[in-house]
Amino acid sequence: MRTEHQKIGAVILAGGRGSRMHSDVQKQYMLLGGRPLICYALEAFEKSRAEELVLVAGAGEEDFVRREILAPMGLKKVKAVVAGGKERYHSVYEGLKALADCSIVLIHDGARPLVTEAVIEGAIAGAEEFGACAAAMPVKDTIKEADADGFVAGTPDRSRLWQIQTPQGFSYELIRGAYDRLMQEAQLQRGITDDAMVAERCAGVRVKLTEGSYMNLKVTTPEDLPVAETLLRAREKGIF
Ligand code: C5P
Repeated sequence: MRTEHQKIGAVILAGGRGSRMHSDVQKQYMLLGGRPLICYALEAFEKSRAEELVLVAGAGEEDFVRREILAPMGLKKVKAVVAGGKERYHSVYEGLKALADCSIVLIHDGARPLVTEAVIEGAIAGAEEFGACAAAMPVKDTIKEADADGFVAGTPDRSRLWQIQTPQGFSYELIRGAYDRLMQEAQLQRGITDDAMVAERCAGVRVKLTEGSYMNLKVTTPEDLPVAETLLRAREKGIF
C-alpha cells in the first residue's frame, strides 16, 4: 500500500520584541558564538526532515533579515519571510498562512538556538502519530502557585509537571482550524502562551508530550546568553 506523501513545514518565530532582554539589539539578532542567534534554529531545521521553512520576522524587518541573515547562510528550504504581529499567536498565524500546502507543521521559537535533530524528529513523529504534540521535559524545581499577595497558595505534585518547549508539532489542518477560530473569537485569546494551548482550547484535542532536552533553553533574559554560549561550545566539542 502506498501512503500519501506528508509534506512537513516549519514556522520559525523571530517576531518578538524581546523586552525581557533589556537590550537595544533584539535578541534574535544578538550574537551567539559570533553569529546572530536566529541562525542556529534555522540551521537545525534546514538539516531536518522539514521540507519548507517560513521565518516570521518583526514587521518592517523582513528585508533586513533576507539580506543580512538569510542570504549569507545560503539556506535552501526557506520559502518565505513574513511579518509577525503583536502577540506570539499573531506571528504564528502569519507563519501558518504561508505554509498552506503542508500536511504537518512544526512551530519553533527562534529564541531556542540549541534545539537538536532528535528533538525535531521527535516532534515530527509525534505530529504524525497523534496530530498534536509539544516537546517537554520534567521540571526540576518544585513549582508553587502564589496568591496576589505573594503567599504560597498551593504546591502541585511535581511528578506530573513538565516544562514545555518548542518545537510543537501538528497536523496542519488541525492547527490551522484552531488558529482560524482563535483569530475570530477574541475571548479565546486570553493567556495564550503556546500552540499546544491553542490546540487544546480551540480544537479540543489531546496534546502528546514528546521528549525535549534540558539544553533546549529559550534565550529570554540577559543571563541566558552566556549559558547558551557555554552549551553551544560544549556541544561543538561533543560533550553533549
Ligand atoms: O515572548 P516569548 O518568549 O514567548 O517568545 C517566544 C518566541 O516567539 C520568540 O522566538 C519570539 O521572537 C517569538 N515571538 C514572535 N512574535 C511575537 C512575540 C514573540 O514571533 N509577537
